[in-house]
Formats: sequence, C-alpha cells, structure tokens
Amino acid sequence: MSVNSTLGLKYDWTEAEVQALFNLPFMDLLFQAQTIHRNNFKANEVQVSTLMSIKTGACPEDCKYCPQSGHYNTELEKEKLAEVEKVLSEASRAKSKGATRFCMGAAWKHPSEKDFPYVLEMIKGVKSLGLESCVTLGTLSDKQAEMLSDVGLDYYNHNLDTSPEFYDSIITTRSYQERLDTLSRVRDSGIKLCCGGIMGMGEEQRDRIGLLRQLSQMTPHPESVPINMLVKVEGTPMANVDDLEPFEFIRTIAVARIMMPTSHVRLSAGREGMNEQMQALCFMAGANSIFYGEKLLTTPNPEAHKDMQLFDKLGINTEKTEALSDEAEKEALLSQVKQQQEDKLFYDASANA
Ligand code: SF4
Repeated sequence: MSVNSTLGLKYDWTEAEVQALFNLPFMDLLFQAQTIHRNNFKANEVQVSTLMSIKTGACPEDCKYCPQSGHYNTELEKEKLAEVEKVLSEASRAKSKGATRFCMGAAWKHPSEKDFPYVLEMIKGVKSLGLESCVTLGTLSDKQAEMLSDVGLDYYNHNLDTSPEFYDSIITTRSYQERLDTLSRVRDSGIKLCCGGIMGMGEEQRDRIGLLRQLSQMTPHPESVPINMLVKVEGTPMANVDDLEPFEFIRTIAVARIMMPTSHVRLSAGREGMNEQMQALCFMAGANSIFYGEKLLTTPNPEAHKDMQLFDKLGINTEKTEALSDEAEKEALLSQVKQQQEDKLFYDASANA
C-alpha cells in the first residue's frame, strides 16, 4: 500500500475501498470526513478565491457542458484577451472584498505566443497586489510551464472533468492523456495543481469514483480539488441532462475529503443552484474553499454578500493565505477592516471570540 505514514496520505485507493466510502450511512460518512478535515485544517475556515474570465468564448474544444465552446450556440458574448490593467483593477477589487487568490481563466486550446506575454504580466501584477495567482489556459508546453513558474504563478487549474471511461462522451477534441501530460508538466515546474471535475453530467457513480481515484493517484495530491456541479446552459448538449441527487453530490465531497485529506476541496461551479442548507452540508463534508463573486467565468455565482451572510450564520471565517508577506497580510487585513466598516457585510467570527 502506498501511504505517506506521517500525514496518512494514500495514493492507491482501490475501487472497492472508494465504493465502501460511498456506501457508508450518510451521517457516518460526514462524521468521518469532518474528523479528517479537522485533523488537517482549522475548523470553520474556508479559503476564498475570485475567478475572472480573461478571454471569453470561441474555444475550439468541444466540452459538452461548456457555453464557451465554439461548437455550440449559447449566445454568449465573446471577448478577446482582457487588457492587463483591467484585470489588475478587478484583482484589486477582489482583494478588497476578502479574496486571497485571484484566478484567471482563458477559453483556449493552448495559449498563443502572441497572448502569452500579457498573461505573464497579469500574473506578476496579481502577485504584486499580495494575492495568490492561478490561471487556466488549456494545454501547456514544457516551456510555457517553466515561464509561468518563473513569474511565480502559484496554481495552475486544469480539470480532469470525469473518469477516463466517461471522458470520451464529454470531450472529443482533447484526450485524457493530454490533460494528464499538462498536469505533470505543471507539477514538474513546481507550480501547485488545481484539478478536479464536474458532477451531474449523466455519469454513473463509478465515474465519480474513477475521477477521485485518478486525482488521488497524483503524487502529491493536487493542492486544490474543485468539485463542480454541472450548470446546465441552454444551447449546450448538456442543457437537459438529469439532475444529480444533492446527497450524492455531498457524498462526493466527503469522499474527496477523506481520500485527499490535505487538499483544499473547493465547492465550485453550481453553488448558485444550491440552497444554504446544502452548502452547509458541503462544508460539513469537508469543502473548505469557494469561488466568491457574482460570476463564475460565464455562469452566475451567489452574490458576494450572500456568501458572507451564510458564513456569518455558520460561524465560518475566511482563510488567510500563508503565501502573503507580513506586509501584504497587514495591508489585506486593514483593507478588510475598512471594508467591514464601510458596508458591514464582512463577518469575522474570531472578532467575537
Ligand atoms: S471547458 Fe475550457 S477547454 Fe472546454 S470548451 Fe470550455 S473553455 Fe474550452
């Protein structure tokens, strides 16, 4: 068995072991997940990221869930690569609202030579604001991964989406292996990985198990594991797919938490369609990261103040990043306090402790 004995990390979960977790009584599963969560993270703390689409639509890939694919007519307004200044002003706004990580997504098969230098400038600018940086740009070459690492990129997002077996019914223009190759290039260049998938695309439970096994076989596990619920968009082939049972989604979060105990499990796309109680159960199951802001690339996300109200009701604090320097941390805190005073929207449960 391949286990890191110090941290209890395991990289060779069998299908039967993961199936056994899914089969646990719901409360037992949540209890186990929350116990593991508390052994590895501060209780009641959630990391907050903001996501901006820096290039929207007309993507040559054919991901069947995605309104940005050029293969489907979703009436999405296409946008060229955003100007560096605009991106940095959005990043600054996100920081003033409490985000510690700024993620930038471009709908590309891979970054072009023409656009890549601008993305590097964006990353440098985001870092200089004292924020962690994350980008998702599609397939990367070795050279591009190195250049991203050289400017200090913290995270690269590249999702596996689903199991290897179900993958071909979702995407035909980029292979699973190509994704794994990009992920290993990113890992080799020293950048942290953000990698997860989408639930509710008509896959079976064995596909959710297959995806989680793929993720947990990465050594080390991806630092960030986004678990998305499909957002059905009119015009995409997935517009009318059957809903996934909410308890099954929560179970998937809990199993991800147990299998990858030190990764941030992100409750990602699809939160707009979840009520507060369901989101609370996802946090109980070990989700400890969210995207925050009104738009998640091109689909709606709960408004920022609603998130803070929910955190208030649940006594959840936002996680401060270790990557920030003392100076940047101080500046971020001052900015948060100022924001609290201005609109009383921000809640920090530790202030009442
Ligand atoms: S998910 Fe990404 S790669 Fe796939 S179509 Fe959408 S933007 Fe393109």
